[in-house]
Amino acid sequence: MISADKVRAGERVSGDEALALYRHASTALLGQLADAVRARKHPNRVVTYIIDRNVNYTNVCVAKCTFCAFYRDVGSTDGYVLGFDELFRKIDETIAVGGVQLLLQGGHNPDLPLSWYEDLFQAIKARYPTFKLHALSPPEVIHLSRLSQLPVPVVIGRLIDAGLDSIPGGGAEILVDRVRKELHCYGKATADEWIEVMRHAHRAGLRTTATMMYGTVETDEERIEHLLRLRSLQDETGGFTAFITWSYQPSNTARGGSEATGIDYLRTLAIARIVLDNFDNLQASWVTQGGKVGQLSLAFGANDMGSVMIEENVVRAAGAAYCMDEAEIVRNIEDAGFIPKRRNMHYGILGDPIFRERDVPRMLELATAREAGDTHVPSELVNYEARSRTGKERLRVLQVQSRNSE
Ligand code: SF4
Repeated sequence: MISADKVRAGERVSGDEALALYRHASTALLGQLADAVRARKHPNRVVTYIIDRNVNYTNVCVAKCTFCAFYRDVGSTDGYVLGFDELFRKIDETIAVGGVQLLLQGGHNPDLPLSWYEDLFQAIKARYPTFKLHALSPPEVIHLSRLSQLPVPVVIGRLIDAGLDSIPGGGAEILVDRVRKELHCYGKATADEWIEVMRHAHRAGLRTTATMMYGTVETDEERIEHLLRLRSLQDETGGFTAFITWSYQPSNTARGGSEATGIDYLRTLAIARIVLDNFDNLQASWVTQGGKVGQLSLAFGANDMGSVMIEENVVRAAGAAYCMDEAEIVRNIEDAGFIPKRRNMHYGILGDPIFRERDVPRMLELATAREAGDTHVPSELVNYEARSRTGKERLRVLQVQSRNSE
């Protein structure tokens, strides 16, 4: 195949060439090509990972994407907003196992104004000055822009001033509007809007990640188009640190259906490594694929094992519940013949596995956002204007409680 020769020679492939490879190359050939690109970019056989905590500050969301099992409607009895104290406790636990950042994402909750996020970020930075905030995917930024009626660059600037360090690439799904309309995620962000948030973030000096969720209604051509859009923005800004892809998890979603196979995952990861020639880092999505496919990913273009999993709510809600702490991630990396190194948000090496340097607690079970049955409402919500009817009612109750306790 001519396009395979181009990849071996380190040349860029076109969309048509990528599509031909994706459709017709054997899985072994795709793996060899992706591994060759990975080896050119990372010749020292180092595979990185980060110790951080994936926290979802609220599950209340007005977007209602049909592929999502995580969200709850406004006013739902099992909707939650985490309190600042709960988040501090989660950060303390993360730091105890060597963690360096929070991956903070949540639903589009109409009762959390921009000032709630600013106050939270400032409070976190005041308590933990060196701890990093990798927070708020592009659709959340757009939601805040609409809620506050401020332009996206202004919202990003205010969040940076409050302590935002980096934006995660969530909410990209497939960056093709036909697909987004079918998945009911066009309203939260069109393909152009998602790209535009990342462009503004990169211009403001933030580094961000990029993602792709495949396996719903998209065609092969649309998967390739998604990758080409990311490659094009990366040519322009150079602001993406890494790319992560995972398959749609169908359980408990409005959409239903079935999950893509492990082979589809490996082929998709490999074609991403080949097309995204201007991305340094590709993560293995073992959270959705399991440890063994995650390990195989290292032969299909991945050079990073993502995050040690302390807490997970979104993927678990859709039926997947893989858990690996640092010792387990390191074992998988070494068993595959690579050298494990801890990294920071910018993929800078922090050192060898921390559990070999000092005693850290094993994390053999995933934590959740909250214990089941815990429905308490954080007291600080009294300070923030609510927009929904139930939010306003709750605010009135909180204000009465607050006056009575004075
Ligand atoms: S994927 Fe995100 S935006 Fe969509 S419904 Fe779920 S929480 Fe809301």
